[in-house]
Amino acid sequence: KAKSLGKGLNVNYEVALQYEVERLITIENAIVEALKRSAFKLYYQPIYDMRAGKVVTVEVLLRWQDNPLEISTQDFINVAERTGHILEIDEWVIDNVFQFVAKMKTKVLPYTVAINLSVQTFKSEKLIEFLEDEVAKYGIEPSRIAFEITEYSFIDDFDKAKTAVMRLKQMGFRISLDDFGTRFSSLNYLVKMPFDLLKIDKSYIDQIVDETAHAIVVEHIIQMSRALGLKSVAEGIEDECQYQQLCRMGCDFGQGFLMAKPAPIEELINLEPQLDYRKTPIV
Ligand code: C2E
Ligand code: MG
Ligand code: MG
Ligand code: MG
Repeated sequence: KAKSLGKGLNVNYEVALQYEVERLITIENAIVEALKRSAFKLYYQPIYDMRAGKVVTVEVLLRWQDNPLEISTQDFINVAERTGHILEIDEWVIDNVFQFVAKMKTKVLPYTVAINLSVQTFKSEKLIEFLEDEVAKYGIEPSRIAFEITEYSFIDDFDKAKTAVMRLKQMGFRISLDDFGTRFSSLNYLVKMPFDLLKIDKSYIDQIVDETAHAIVVEHIIQMSRALGLKSVAEGIEDECQYQQLCRMGCDFGQGFLMAKPAPIEELINLEPQLDYRKTPIV
């Protein structure tokens, strides 16, 4: 296969490939082991109404306890996607979150809970049936859940993806378009898909203070979202300048280390009164 690259390159290529395959296998084995030992834990990060400074949603983020390889969530999610374990992981997350949401009455947990869905999970033939069973099992109100999906979900079969989104919506779930601005960001998706929220990727938020072009694009995404009836969400807000600027731009919701880092839910709920980012709303 790589023969035409020439001898030297070929050797390096094979070594690199060998190394990559070994890395994949090591991580895959650790994931299988972690699933067996229930070594995953759910963290939650608040998402705020920017003007009021109050929590509206919490996003569920997977964490690996005593993670033997010390790899990031993004890295092990990528390997789980490539090796097919992601479906089991996402189902485990959904089951745990639904059970938790059912237990917590809306008084204690008055927020929407956002769950990330990988492309494979979103496209799985079994997803809808699985969710119907889960809703029945825990008796939860689907409107308390928002699924976050990325543009990858739409690249190869738009019509099929649209049908899947419509079915989730019919069941009463909310849908967020995650990481907007990173890949294809086709306007076609925004016009044709009934999303509830649009999450602007952190890589844009990072640059709104220093880069005029980024600021202009973000401001227009916010205005466009509003005109289309979607809520805009800014990801990865790390400083007060970004927060203020996003507020001026009319961004609805925001999430980031400035306000709160992901944490076990007990920590967040115990913190309740302090969870508010602003004591006085911005008017
Ligand atoms: P995402 O869905 O875009 O989640 C937001 C990521 O940004 C999280 O990383 C969060 O910790 C991080 N973040 C939030 N605010 C800030 C900030 O102010 N600064 C910085 N530097 N980072 C911030 P995390 O938890 O490492 O997750 C990475 C990605 O892994 C997620 O990106 C999501 O795509 C995926 N993921 C996490 N949990 C799950 C899961 O249960 N299922 C699936 N399929 N994917 C998941
Ligand atoms: Mg997300
Ligand atoms: Mg995101
Ligand atoms: Mg992401």
